[in-house]
Amino acid sequence: MDEIRIDNLEVYAGHGVFEEENKNGQSFLISAILHTDVRDAGLKDDLTMSTHYGEVSHLIYHYLRENTFKLLEAAAEHVAEEILLSFPLVHALSLEIKKPQAPIGLPFESVSVKIHRGWKKAYLSIGSNMGDKQKYLEEAIDKLGSASKIRKVKVSDFLVTKPYGLVDQDDFLNAAVEIETLYTPMELLHFLQKTELEAGRERKIHWGPRTLDLDILFYENVISDSKELMIPHPDMQNREFVLKPLAELCPYYVHPLLGKSVGQMLNELKTK
Ligand code: ATP
Ligand code: CA
Ligand code: CA
Repeated sequence: MDEIRIDNLEVYAGHGVFEEENKNGQSFLISAILHTDVRDAGLKDDLTMSTHYGEVSHLIYHYLRENTFKLLEAAAEHVAEEILLSFPLVHALSLEIKKPQAPIGLPFESVSVKIHRGWKKAYLSIGSNMGDKQKYLEEAIDKLGSASKIRKVKVSDFLVTKPYGLVDQDDFLNAAVEIETLYTPMELLHFLQKTELEAGRERKIHWGPRTLDLDILFYENVISDSKELMIPHPDMQNREFVLKPLAELCPYYVHPLLGKSVGQMLNELKTK
């Protein structure tokens, strides 16, 4: 991807662990690499199709002047998030904050923290088989849409399906959802679990009736095999109610472990 760079923007500010640092202030040097596609802006010679490095510089400057952090890590984390939330064409960024006058008491050029952050694509499965199922799904989708760290929510059609596992219960209403998010996989799981609880979800029996179930199917090409979070979802390839709506959103998305596209997994399941 193309890059727009800001090198060593100087900001005098009060970040540091020591009170003296907060009171007296010192210089910080900030460098940012913004990952963004500049092709259209380049062809049309039009700034409105790109990201204004002046505006980004001013955001960094004001943010670091108006907030005080103990750690460079915290300053970097917050500034990176502000940039990603304020400039939608910036897909990802690297941000480095240097502190050339850090109180170390030894000769050195500078210390710094550099982080990489960005919007990540994830696919979710959403289901309900208790009460007003459509309302539960719609409310959950609204919550995804209004979370600041989630954007570009796309939803498949809703699909009525017979229950899976424990079959003696009401039909399910299922859908798949595509999002972009600033949450890490674990943060996303916790956000989804909070949303389930707000919908009155009670964890009684595995695969039992529930007002709302939100599962992570894919998160970029991440592979995670901890018990708390398995990605890709370990049973997705065996579930038509997951693959069918998902194939509406991303038929060519390739499962990072099985090496098969969503469409292919769906076809294989149907012909089993
Ligand atoms: P299944 O995961 O087979 O669809 P379920 O959705 O009914 O079953 P839950 O009771 O909702 O299961 O969740 C059990 C646990 O699964 C959760 O506490 C969560 O930590 C864990 N889990 C592991 N991987 C995932 C994932 N990809 N998405 C959501 N939860 C997951
Ligand atoms: Ca599930
Ligand atoms: Ca679940």
